[in-house]
Amino acid sequence: MTRRRISIFGATGSIGQNTIDLIKRDLEAYHTVALTGAHNIPQLAHDAIKLRAEVAVTADTDRLQDLRDALSGSGIEAAAGESGLEEAASRSADWVMSAIVGAAGLKPGLRALESGANLALANKESLVCAGELIRATAKKHDALLIPVDSEHSAVFQALVGEDMTSVERIIITGSGGAFRDWPIGDLPFATPEQAATHPNWAMGQRITIDSATMFNKALELIETKEYFGVEDEKIEVIIHPESIIHALVGFVDGALMAHVGPPDMRHAIGYALHWPERRNLPVERLDLAQVAQFNFYEPDLTRYPPLRLARDVIRSGGLTGAVFNAAKESALDAFIDKKIGFMDMAAVVEDVLSISETRGNLLDEEMTLESVMNADAEARIAARQVITQRYG
Ligand code: NAD
Ligand code: MG
Repeated sequence: MTRRRISIFGATGSIGQNTIDLIKRDLEAYHTVALTGAHNIPQLAHDAIKLRAEVAVTADTDRLQDLRDALSGSGIEAAAGESGLEEAASRSADWVMSAIVGAAGLKPGLRALESGANLALANKESLVCAGELIRATAKKHDALLIPVDSEHSAVFQALVGEDMTSVERIIITGSGGAFRDWPIGDLPFATPEQAATHPNWAMGQRITIDSATMFNKALELIETKEYFGVEDEKIEVIIHPESIIHALVGFVDGALMAHVGPPDMRHAIGYALHWPERRNLPVERLDLAQVAQFNFYEPDLTRYPPLRLARDVIRSGGLTGAVFNAAKESALDAFIDKKIGFMDMAAVVEDVLSISETRGNLLDEEMTLESVMNADAEARIAARQVITQRYG
């Protein structure tokens, strides 16, 4: 049997480690081309040796020697930095997991698609920044994009065998995050530590804080539009505190197809890994009597302003997604560094969006890797200015 050639970008993170958990259960089925990480060199080296990878890459050039030391005697190549990531992403593979966090995942993802690999996309930020470019690149190289975000995997699965013309609406659910039951008046005082605890999912720090603000759901609204080509009016967000129903697709005959499962990312990762087949996965089998009830309620846009902003971004199109994401990443950094408060994140992003709107030319530009990177860089500068002016 020929082994499937796979690579995992962001292997040391939450999604990366869940992917490795699945791969380790059937090591003989895979040939690992590349594993990448940033700062956790011991984990990266350990997994590269376990999976017998061709190359391990750290995004942090200062850690290259540490990585070499940790891999010494293993025969595994060590590389570092953006060029190391891009080179590793260009190596031929059948399946690549894109699980770097943030816009840093865009270039490696594009390289992987150019090499013809099917891309399992957890890195939603790249789709928000450059959806059109990613879709065009995938098409040109006959590569497939497979959603890994739980909601989008759920929609993808509900759409198997269906015709998009019979889709009336797509509903993605959100838990409401760490502060869903807090009085709104207390939100400005929420700390990064409090925001980084999720009621249902175990995830990386950044996406967990994004769940508390619902910037995560805002990115996912844009992601839904990019994957499935539906208009903003057809996408709904509903709070579902149990995180058991991940998404629903509504059809013209009134039927709603829901994807129901425990909050365990190994389901969506495993589905993307084995697509178009289904294989046995080590996820809990739900006991519905135990779950007992499903709750749903409308999100309050004063509590979650990013949901309102995301709809503006979808309507504007073009490079607005790149501006939105970069402003969000900058605001999140400032919140983690305790330079701004919890509710200030959305205010900063809104300001940056209006600044870039007044510079219309940026938004009318054609979408290329360069124009996306420029929009991203300009938005980060604008965000820093807004933060200094407003919050000192
Ligand atoms: P994480 O923070 O746990 O891991 C991020 C990974 O990216 C790590 O391997 C880290 O070393 C690497 N990395 C960080 N900065 C980098 C940079 N500048 N260059 C290269 N590599 C870098 O994050 P995560 O929770 O695993 O999320 C990864 C992606 O998957 C994000 O886009 C997130 O939105 C998405 N996602 C995650 C979950 C989840 O359950 N964790 C669910 C849905 C979608
Ligand atoms: Mg999600």
